[in-house]
Amino acid sequence: MVTFPPETAFHSSSAERKTPLDWKTPACVYVHLPFCKSRCPYCDFFSTTGQPPVERYLAALRSERRQRGIGRERPLRTLYLGGGTPSIWPRAALEELIAEFSVEPSSEVTVEVNPGDADSGWFAGLAAAGVNRFSIGAQALDDRRLAWLGRRHGVSEVEKAVAFAKRAGAAVSVDIIYGTPGQTPKALRRELKQAVEVGAQHISAYELSIKDGSPLDGRLVVRERQEIEDDQRAALLWHTVGDTLAHVGWERYEVSSYCRPGFRSRHNQVYWRGEPYVGLGAGAHGFCRAGGHFVRYANPTDIGDYLDGAPRVSDPSRPVASTGRREQLSSEEHAVELVMLGLRFAGGVDLSRLDELLSPEQKVRWHAHFEKWVSGGDAARRGAFLLPTTRGMLYADGLAAELIA
Ligand code: SF4
Repeated sequence: MVTFPPETAFHSSSAERKTPLDWKTPACVYVHLPFCKSRCPYCDFFSTTGQPPVERYLAALRSERRQRGIGRERPLRTLYLGGGTPSIWPRAALEELIAEFSVEPSSEVTVEVNPGDADSGWFAGLAAAGVNRFSIGAQALDDRRLAWLGRRHGVSEVEKAVAFAKRAGAAVSVDIIYGTPGQTPKALRRELKQAVEVGAQHISAYELSIKDGSPLDGRLVVRERQEIEDDQRAALLWHTVGDTLAHVGWERYEVSSYCRPGFRSRHNQVYWRGEPYVGLGAGAHGFCRAGGHFVRYANPTDIGDYLDGAPRVSDPSRPVASTGRREQLSSEEHAVELVMLGLRFAGGVDLSRLDELLSPEQKVRWHAHFEKWVSGGDAARRGAFLLPTTRGMLYADGLAAELIA
């Protein structure tokens, strides 16, 4: 019998998963604000340096919102302002942006913040405007690691940002990048404990990876590169994160996401369940259903194209300008995605939803794989769900790839 690890138990999300998918008018919106003060050497998110063209960008977002059919008549389930660095935006501009949407106390409204950018008034003002969750880009709670990562802030700024967010009455998530050269499991444990002690209720812990051609790629010496790319060390540190946080009662509910019970990110769970969402802004991605297909679109990453293109979008499944991208997924491709995402997520794979996407032959073949994963200790069946074990979560991509091998 498979021993079912506590962190993969299906918790508070059962009510949410009963909500029917609404492909026509998704209730979850991501807004991309792609401006940063400086570039971090490890980062490959789309963003540009410099001050945002606040008025023009807000006008383009407003236009895109209307044309993608996100009205004010229905409250959003989740709204997420990410970047880039939303915290370099003036508070009044973000308040104006949030007022574009219908948000209620039951909506989850998240804003990403870089430590050191914002004072207590900024946090309090946004909380009054409806923000109830701040995601703080700490990346480390060790000044030497922060300097190595090229961050502009120190540990004391992280502590202040968490305190401001909590004083504003919001939930707090902290991002951590682990696996920098020389970091031991003991040192990682210390940072995680500190994040919990300063008041984080959610941690997104990402393994450092080297993006080809990034400034980090160019500056690493051989020994550092070998250390970062050592899979055994990476697995040891990943287990260290899970074990350390489990020790204080937290759950790992996604391969990189941990929280105190009740503090899961509702917005990110939409991605992991393969549900529809709208992405607004330059470089933003969205996922919807159009013309019988599952469609992913990506807006242009050229800010000028975005500002010019937004007024002309006419199809909710299209990027706002011809320089954006649109990709149609077949039912099988969407099904593979659902398995890949579901195996990384404690909510698992909804097999009844999956079966609707598969032909009878595929169903037989795929279910044979599922049985093999269950008997091999990579997954467990619970009702209509296939849930990953801790090991299955770690090897999710490889398992999903077996389906199309
Ligand atoms: S602040 Fe965030 S988005 Fe901007 S470069 Fe650094 S990691 Fe990337």
